[in-house]
Amino acid sequence: MNNEELLTFARHAMQMSYSPYSNCKVGAALLAKNGKVYEGCNIENAAYGPTMCAERTAIFKAVSEGVTEFEKIAIVGGKNGVEDGLYPPCGVCRQVMREFCSLDFPVILGKKDGFVETTLEELLPYSFGPENLN
Ligand SMILES: [Zn+2]
Repeated sequence: MNNEELLTFARHAMQMSYSPYSNCKVGAALLAKNGKVYEGCNIENAAYGPTMCAERTAIFKAVSEGVTEFEKIAIVGGKNGVEDGLYPPCGVCRQVMREFCSLDFPVILGKKDGFVETTLEELLPYSFGPENLN
């Protein structure tokens, strides 16, 4: 699956966003090595703290179904669901990716006119991962 195709799934997920407080809608599409795509959206909460990001929603959906090997992830976002620039993953989501993904894991950041492709290592240099505890 190419990046544009995966971004289409992310845009679909973005429309599911529950974000009545920020009105920032974010969608993520996680391609697993088994070929399945897991979509996630951000889910806000009136107490703010329980809010969940799109990327972790997608990753946790997959892991909860026994899938832990991933090819790449695509992420889009925008105020009121209108893409207005890059929406890079937050630090917590980067660390969650680090648990399951290789350092060269591709992260595709959609924008209005195309996308930027980066890697987990570029987003989270000198990171702490599972091998540090072995
Ligand atoms: Zn996040």
